Amino acid sequence: MSESRLDSLLAWIDASPSPYHAAHNATAELSSVGFNRFGPDEKWEESDRVVVSWGGVVIAAAFGSRIDPDRLRFRIVGAHTDSPNLRIKPNPDSHKLGYRQLGVEVYGGVLLNSWLDRDLGLSGRVVVRDGSGNQTLLFSANRPLLRVAQLAIHLDREVNEGLKLDRQSHLAPIWGLGTSNDGDFRSFLADEIGVNDSEVLSWDVMCHDLTPSTVLGRDNELYAAPRIDNLASCHAALSALQQIGPVGEDTISVMVLFDHEEVGSESSTGAKGPMLSSALERLAGTRSTNREQFLRALNRSICVSADGAHAVHPNYVDRHEPEHQVVLNGGPVIKINANVRYATDAESSALFQSVCRSAGVPVQQYAHRTNLLCGSTIGPITAAQLGMSVVDVGSAQLSMHSAREMGGSKDPDYLFSALTEFFAGT
Ligand code: ZN
Repeated sequence: MSESRLDSLLAWIDASPSPYHAAHNATAELSSVGFNRFGPDEKWEESDRVVVSWGGVVIAAAFGSRIDPDRLRFRIVGAHTDSPNLRIKPNPDSHKLGYRQLGVEVYGGVLLNSWLDRDLGLSGRVVVRDGSGNQTLLFSANRPLLRVAQLAIHLDREVNEGLKLDRQSHLAPIWGLGTSNDGDFRSFLADEIGVNDSEVLSWDVMCHDLTPSTVLGRDNELYAAPRIDNLASCHAALSALQQIGPVGEDTISVMVLFDHEEVGSESSTGAKGPMLSSALERLAGTRSTNREQFLRALNRSICVSADGAHAVHPNYVDRHEPEHQVVLNGGPVIKINANVRYATDAESSALFQSVCRSAGVPVQQYAHRTNLLCGSTIGPITAAQLGMSVVDVGSAQLSMHSAREMGGSKDPDYLFSALTEFFAGT
């Protein structure tokens, strides 16, 4: 176990409360180790190491020392920067019975109860008007500002028989007392950023739990953090690409971090958009690859879709498939579903198993209970978009989509080692 890898993951999660922060931090780290940064609208010049980022997405590539366009192949690791949470509405200000509150929308498949009675901060991005046009600024306030207060048990004696939360009426966080006027939240953002109220045009701002990520357990075998799904995969892919040695000949190793996976990936920065296929073609184009050579390259390529996996839960064993119970600290999990909710097939599974063997890490296999609806990932979407072989993998975790999730302390290092081996492409 590398404690430093786990420490680095926990610090990275805490520094990345929104997808925009995750993308910003990943890009800054890659730039600092020699990746040449380009804008999505710029010409991407020939370079051995490239990173492109906008919004909540990052695409980064490391090229083999020699690329023959007729033999080109991609080795891609895909993950996502977004996590389920509560997001601030455009007209959020309300006051009722002496409380100041903010209106929120539920983003993705949130375990709503996990957001109750937590001290929450705010983060995201804000668009401000400046002299020459509009400017997008990263924003975070990492201090206790908000709280979704739970109803006392004396006022709901049956609550422990099944908590019911109405998304419209029960989730509005309290953020003060007194009256609030329209524009209160805008004014708060303006103060935080240091501009006039009228200069704040719009925002993508969300709540985050302020409890620091931590190592946990009798022998430190566990860790607890927000956004493990899917910042743990982003961090493993990012660390692997940062520390990559020589890449195999004719190989371009690509990390793609999408946004909007938790809401179905259908956006300009989600996996259903043209972002990845355009980027791959442009990366190949920096090595004089023509369209026909690019399309052939896709057929030689493989993508690892990295996302969380469900560890067997000791209190809910009946929710798990008895022969596919994956465990914390058991190494990367290959996820398989006959109905292609995961994109893994026999060939891509076999390839990833050999990657793990070469990396010296254990590997597990997950199948969902046949009588439960299975979740999905960017895996099948990427396979369908690119016509490429994909394997769905990830580290096991508990409490997926809670405001605070839990993983095994050894798994970050296992996933990192497997992805490093995969990226090397040898
Ligand atoms: Zn996920």
